[in-house]
Amino acid sequence: MKVTVLVGGVGGARFLQGVKAALGLPAIGPGRAGGDAGHPHQVDAVVNVGDDIWLHGLRVCPDLDTCMYTLGDGIDTGKGWGRAGETWSIREELAAYEAEPTWFGLGDRDVATHLVRTRMLRAGYPLSQVTEALCHRWQPGVRLLPASDDRVETHVVIDNPDLGPAGDEQDAPPQVAIHFQEWWIRHKAVPPAHRFASVGADTAAILPAARASIAEADVVLVAPSNPVVSIGTIVSVPGVPQALAATPAPVVGLSPIVGGRPVRGMADACLSALGVETSAEGVGRHYGGRGEGGLLDGYLVHTGDACEVPGATVREVPLLMTDTDATAGMARAAFDLAGVRVD
Ligand code: GDP
Ligand code: CA
Repeated sequence: MKVTVLVGGVGGARFLQGVKAALGLPAIGPGRAGGDAGHPHQVDAVVNVGDDIWLHGLRVCPDLDTCMYTLGDGIDTGKGWGRAGETWSIREELAAYEAEPTWFGLGDRDVATHLVRTRMLRAGYPLSQVTEALCHRWQPGVRLLPASDDRVETHVVIDNPDLGPAGDEQDAPPQVAIHFQEWWIRHKAVPPAHRFASVGADTAAILPAARASIAEADVVLVAPSNPVVSIGTIVSVPGVPQALAATPAPVVGLSPIVGGRPVRGMADACLSALGVETSAEGVGRHYGGRGEGGLLDGYLVHTGDACEVPGATVREVPLLMTDTDATAGMARAAFDLAGVRVD
């Protein structure tokens, strides 16, 4: 069976562990799918690149790296992102130089990844090939496909923080657009977002391998990732909505909102910018039923979050990724709702 999953970072990576387990692959490492053409199952992940950013001359791809480290057993499992056993000498040395930005801490181990990536990008390799090369080391057992090789960066429009309370400074623009990472990490998503912009999306294109993966899949899953800045950014890439609309595979989404709140993170701050209610139903209707021109044939919500999404079949199941068994159960429920059998 071919399974294609749209994912962001921490939520997406954990869900991929469950998908692998549900298919009989070990949650961590390559298992038999890694390079074994005889294995009946293949998992592809179409990964958000909207969080990607240049820092100190290095290209940092947070969601790709979270997936790679999580599935390759290199993740800091407590935090859910970054490398296990990380040290911070480089951050301290940069701070001693007062080198901006200081709000994004690059760990020493993590920096090695960014050095290899940046060097390859500078040599002319596209991000997808760079990711494949990095995965030779990590053997995630899943094909990690950046949604695009082109720059598609999420920026956030907020009130200009340099304006005084009276907002009366001359010539200062009333609103500014900052990189998503600056809003999320430096400002903790506190300044209300007026809107999100996918910078570069207008001239970007879906990664051809991602288009083929969606077209040839037996089932497409939308992970319980941030619906706005993970899934929304992937869907903002030209060619992605078309691929999802055209695939003969059923498309099943899982709600990242449980009991009216994000399970972790600040997705509510993103949803409110779009005027979408922070609820399983709000997200489901935002994605839309495929029968009504939206994304989803099926939608899984947490037990007790029953709702209606016109054009999609909604089912209630436990949706808390407390451990790999529970997460595998979510993946099995998604296969079941999609009507695909896993043997
Ligand atoms: P990020 O890129 O690291 O922010 O990660 P993602 O976008 O992939 O996932 C973040 C989303 O995962 C958040 O909106 C959370 O609500 C959601 N999430 C995290 N853990 C769980 C869980 O156990 N169950 C569900 N349903 N959603 C979760
Ligand atoms: Ca992310």
